[in-house]
Amino acid sequence: MVVVCGAGIVGLSIARELVRRGFKVLVLEKENRLGVHASGNNSGVIHSGIYYRSKSLKAELCVKGNKYMKNYIKEKGLPLIENGKVIVARDERDLKTLEILKERARLNGVKVEMVDERELKRIEPLAKTFGYALYVESTANTDPIKVLESLKEDIEIEGKGKVLLGVKFIKPLSKNEILTSEGKIGFDMFINCAGIFADKVAHKFGDAEEYHILPFKGSYWELVGDKIAYIKGNIYPAPNLNLPFLGVHASRSPAGKIFVGPNATLSLGRYGNLSSEILEILPSFLHLALKNPEIIRYAYRETITKFLGIFRELERIMDIKGLKIIPSKKFGVRSQVINFYEGRMENDFILIKRGNIIHILNAVSPAFTSSLAFAEYVIDRYFLR
Ligand SMILES: Cc1cc2nc3c(=O)[nH]c(=O)nc-3n(C[C@H](O)[C@H](O)[C@H](O)COP(=O)(O)OP(=O)(O)OC[C@H]3O[C@@H](n4cnc5c(N)ncnc54)[C@H](O)[C@@H]3O)c2cc1C
Repeated sequence: MVVVCGAGIVGLSIARELVRRGFKVLVLEKENRLGVHASGNNSGVIHSGIYYRSKSLKAELCVKGNKYMKNYIKEKGLPLIENGKVIVARDERDLKTLEILKERARLNGVKVEMVDERELKRIEPLAKTFGYALYVESTANTDPIKVLESLKEDIEIEGKGKVLLGVKFIKPLSKNEILTSEGKIGFDMFINCAGIFADKVAHKFGDAEEYHILPFKGSYWELVGDKIAYIKGNIYPAPNLNLPFLGVHASRSPAGKIFVGPNATLSLGRYGNLSSEILEILPSFLHLALKNPEIIRYAYRETITKFLGIFRELERIMDIKGLKIIPSKKFGVRSQVINFYEGRMENDFILIKRGNIIHILNAVSPAFTSSLAFAEYVIDRYFLR
């Protein structure tokens, strides 16, 4: 039997693919419902794959995952908005970033179009740009929790798989047995998909000592007012390509809400709220910041934005006259991995296999989009080898 730790999008996608291939699977999830963490609290954007360097795992799996996820959602009749996305420029420097993204899109095989201000208004009437914007047709939006629920159903429908909610992995006992909050469980293969706790789970097996997760919180706001009807899909700023964050954007949810966010502030606990974990987080952050001063500037700017001016940030990318921005309770925390020995942020997904154990780390954005393609990759290249 395969035991999967964590019923986020990564764990559920892998478990579903294993069941489809005839394996018996048990998924352990410490929470009592699905989607309590990142997989249920993200922007719900099905990314196109243009941000990532060609030949990276993120690029390959995002482009493929975009198609797989949209097909899956259509096949299951789940909510899907296919209105694409525009990435706008705020100044001359952003235009250069758009050119880089256009080239990455070409290398990654994603169709994009550079549009002028008139064409931009036709696609996204409220978006503003400095000269040109990049239009990405294949970006879409969904309801992440509906996708998680559907995957759970797929896993359990034939009786080959089971998702146990409210059961926590505690520690390994031997090569084929673990201790959980409900007692001992035997396994042939163990796959660690614990999201923001994936480093801790790996460390319990004596693996991945160099990797530590540095949590970055992403808070959301909501746009309200009649004019939100004009926002069709997604309005994004040109990103800072040196950092793994895409910038505060406006996105339409299938329920008709327009969410604004997420920003990226250092989280004081792994699940967003202040906890004793801060005693590990702060030294990790300082260690990283010493080697990467840019991260300090970014964290400072994001924190200022959080307290002083999400409005100001947003009005640089769209017309918000007549709209109100209200804080939303929604937030998600990114499981960003840093290589503690080398003092740098990891960019790509990380997979480690040792014997019958597989660890998945740094499953940050666009892991939701990529998940169905990622599941095939993990099974073909790691599980079966
Ligand atoms: C703010 C934000 C916005 C994002 N927006 C997008 C987006 O628009 N598009 C996109 O493609 N991606 C997006 N992402 C990225 C994406 O949401 C995540 O990469 C993805 O959800 C990670 O999935 P996961 O399964 O690894 O983690 P999680 O969803 O965190 O799942 C891990 C699960 O493991 C469980 N667990 C942990 N420890 C244990 C244990 N000891 N025993 C049992 N269970 C355990 C947890 O309870 C959790 O449910 C966003 C992320 C954030 C934070």
